[in-house]
Amino acid sequence: MIILALDALDSDMITRYECKNLKQVEYGQTNLSDFQLERTVVLWASFLTGKNMEPRIPIETQWQFKLKPEETFLSSFKSYKGVDVPAFSLKEKNHAEERRLLKNFFDKESGVEEYDELVWKNHDENKKDFFNSLGHFDVVLGYFDLADAIGHLSFGIPEKMRRVYMELDEMMRETKSSLDDFTLAISDHGMKEVGRYGDHSRNGFYSTNRRLGLSLPRITDFYDLLKGGA
Ligand SMILES: [Zn+2]
Repeated sequence: MIILALDALDSDMITRYECKNLKQVEYGQTNLSDFQLERTVVLWASFLTGKNMEPRIPIETQWQFKLKPEETFLSSFKSYKGVDVPAFSLKEKNHAEERRLLKNFFDKESGVEEYDELVWKNHDENKKDFFNSLGHFDVVLGYFDLADAIGHLSFGIPEKMRRVYMELDEMMRETKSSLDDFTLAISDHGMKEVGRYGDHSRNGFYSTNRRLGLSLPRITDFYDLLKGGA
């Protein structure tokens, strides 16, 4: 099983940029109405456990929050690999560095170029880890924050967002052609424009290479579907 966990992949943007590969056999919007806020760590933790984790994860310390493997559907597989998964196997140093440059941008200590460069560098590292893992584990879950991280500072800049969505669509194409496994692409939340910036929205997205017959699934619904193999 292969899971592409794409932070802030937005259902409207997939249509706008004609991401043909991300629209697999079945696709649509997810339902996030159970959550008060669209928080990245909370939503991925909820996806992994099948439970609404909002009350258990304080905002101040959310990036340090970590699940035990047995709390997640991943532990029902003989072997699994989670590449940079929030609340699970996050590459803390890479994300701390992204948050530092984000803060520097708002403090006018460094430019958006420096931040974008780091985000793309971290993305390329995860991409390498993800594609190298395919075929070696029962389930490979690769997390990519590209659309979220670039979107926060540049969601209102179409050239930049087109490049991001083309990249994610191309990754989906490469994933599909490498193995015949069940493949899920899913986001935690979508994104909306706030001037040149972007903020989280309820426009989450999912797509599968097999017909599941889901309609507006909750992010917590996937736990039962994925546990033990879809
Ligand atoms: Zn997110």
